[in-house]
Amino acid sequence: MDIVDSLTRSRMMAGIRSKNTLPERLVRSFLHARGFRYRIHDKKLPGKPDIVLPKHCVVIFIHGCFWHQHPACKNAVKPKTNSQKWIQKFSDNEERDQRNLLALKALGWRVIVLWECGLGRKISDDQLGWLPDAIRSSAFDYLEWPVIVVTS
Ligand SMILES: [Zn+2]
Repeated sequence: MDIVDSLTRSRMMAGIRSKNTLPERLVRSFLHARGFRYRIHDKKLPGKPDIVLPKHCVVIFIHGCFWHQHPACKNAVKPKTNSQKWIQKFSDNEERDQRNLLALKALGWRVIVLWECGLGRKISDDQLGWLPDAIRSSAFDYLEWPVIVVTS
């Protein structure tokens, strides 16, 4: 079953990434309200990160679970039609994400990936309360949230 409508799907197929999506705006205002200052969609950095916090050497990507195939996420469905094409798309994306990640690391940036399924239509401290501390700490190179653990 496909979860996106056909217009969205063809935009995705064409590799058009939408900017300023609701989850992006929510994360931005969450951070802004907590005193963080940032740049957005920085073209100078690999992968054009959605949020850049220069003071902390942190970049944040807000990833759509479908487009970036969030591991084990229910939103990361594989379309049944054109499946070869999609598999190619997904692996291209994964490769690109990986390349950008390594390039960012090499430049000294720490990377946080937030998956859209964790964000919803509102953001509370219950969800992202950990984020301010994570940004200020230097205990990681790469962090993603939420991580879905599969139990069998
Ligand atoms: Zn997800």
